[in-house]
Amino acid sequence: FTTEAGLYTASDQVVVLTPDNVDSVLVNSTAALVVEFYASWCGHCIAFSPVWKSLASDIKEWKPAVDVAAIDCANQDNGPICSRFGVRGYPTLKVLQLLYSTRFPRNVRGLRHKIINKMETHAEPWPPACPPLETASRAELDNFFETNSVGHLALLFETSNSYVGRELTLDLLQYENIAVRRVLSTEDGLVAKLNVTDFPSCYLYSPSGIFTRQLEARTFYTYALQRLPGVVRAGKPLPVTSDLAKNTTEDQLRPFNRSRVYMADLESTLHYSLRMELAAHPVIKGEALSALQRYISVLAKYFPGRPVVNNLLKSVDTWLKGEKDTELSYSSLRDALDNTAEVPNAALPKGVRWVGCQGSKPHFRRYPCGMWTLFHVLTVQAEEAADKDPQEVLQAMRSYIHSFFGCQACATHFENMAQESMSHVGTLSSAVLWLWSHHNHVNNRLAGALSEDPHFPKIQWPSPELCPSCHGVKNGEHTWNQEELLTFLRSHFSSEHLLSDYLE
Ligand code: FAD
Repeated sequence: FTTEAGLYTASDQVVVLTPDNVDSVLVNSTAALVVEFYASWCGHCIAFSPVWKSLASDIKEWKPAVDVAAIDCANQDNGPICSRFGVRGYPTLKVLQLLYSTRFPRNVRGLRHKIINKMETHAEPWPPACPPLETASRAELDNFFETNSVGHLALLFETSNSYVGRELTLDLLQYENIAVRRVLSTEDGLVAKLNVTDFPSCYLYSPSGIFTRQLEARTFYTYALQRLPGVVRAGKPLPVTSDLAKNTTEDQLRPFNRSRVYMADLESTLHYSLRMELAAHPVIKGEALSALQRYISVLAKYFPGRPVVNNLLKSVDTWLKGEKDTELSYSSLRDALDNTAEVPNAALPKGVRWVGCQGSKPHFRRYPCGMWTLFHVLTVQAEEAADKDPQEVLQAMRSYIHSFFGCQACATHFENMAQESMSHVGTLSSAVLWLWSHHNHVNNRLAGALSEDPHFPKIQWPSPELCPSCHGVKNGEHTWNQEELLTFLRSHFSSEHLLSDYLE
């Protein structure tokens, strides 16, 4: 079984949190730690990762005061840490454990501002290594060189809603022989004395009372100030970026047949969903509890698994149906999943082994691929069983995704599609087709996105090679032949057609 590799390495200037370092990083750090909790399979996290890397590189000089970190909650070993911080959706940011939010700017500038806001407004002790960021007054500056032994003082004049002064202070944090002070445009005496007309603008103020003016943007100020005579970088050296440390974790793809469905993916999906994703919910109640009941119920009814797995799903379903409490602790569900003593020959393998859902890089495909595949299989199995309720599997999927799927933006998109048309599904075969066509909507939206595995491009599926008769042409336009499609889906996702290679 594999463990998942994440989206970042130390060479990205991002502290990669693991069970081995998390406590020492949190306890020993003199800095505010800005942590991204993500799941390596989540497309939105993949799309966001270049921004997070840029932020880490952009504010690397802030390290003694603000350090950028990340943890992959899809990695089984990290699950308990993510649960400890109450993380359920990805990506989630936390600063010093104060900010808990999946709502934050998706660009470097907005993120810098958010971090500064959080540092200034939080109630906990100020990070010891962080300089004060408040504004300077004329009185302070008049006798600045008498009370401070630095060679240079940079004054950043700006309006109160500007962040450049605070950013510059942090950019110069590790440099000696220079101080940066922020002066507001309302500080009339100083503004008049230096004849300041542009905000923001930066003035160098020296003991001899000579001012020089620089009028550019943050990066230019920073660059110029760091190179002033006598200014030296005294902080810890920046980590050396080595090509060797870059993401070289490209896995060898296991040989597999692209036109088949593998039981190993379905069992991996069950493991991840039941033991990792649900574990983020220590208490399950209300809407989430009924979502869990529906999910387990359709699994128990339709999962075309090995007898040991089916026995387990049935026993968990019976146990859940017998529970009369209005809330359930995840630990009791976990006990029911792991404690197979009462039901002989009942077990779900621990760990994941992706085969048809493996990606060419560790962050591609895997769990969301498994989730789609699982529900396609379940809709086809329900049709084969000729059960009465055409909505049962689709609604179970809808409520599971809504209550538990870690990629919250995916869940919102899916819910919007479900609201539009899911209730119109009136037969078991149209449930199979509904899921097929809406999965294709998602494929269409995601084609070309960063989360697309180049070895597995998002296509309108199935391809003409996989099902030639599913495709047709009418009046020069492509059409789907729904009858042929149904026949193909029934066979592709049927229990007889599932491959059991790579199982334990
Ligand atoms: P997947 O799309 O995961 O498909 C898995 C396999 O299913 C394919 O390899 C193919 O064999 C088969 N397949 C493909 N299309 C169909 C079809 N139409 N019918 C039947 N079988 C098919 N990611 C985002 O970035 N944004 C989102 O909004 C988003 N929403 C999602 C919503 C849900 C409910 C789920 C489960 C996932 C969502 N994802 C989203 C993830 C995304 O859809 C993919 O699962 C992920 O990018 C992995 O892609 P993949 O290449 O493995 O193929």
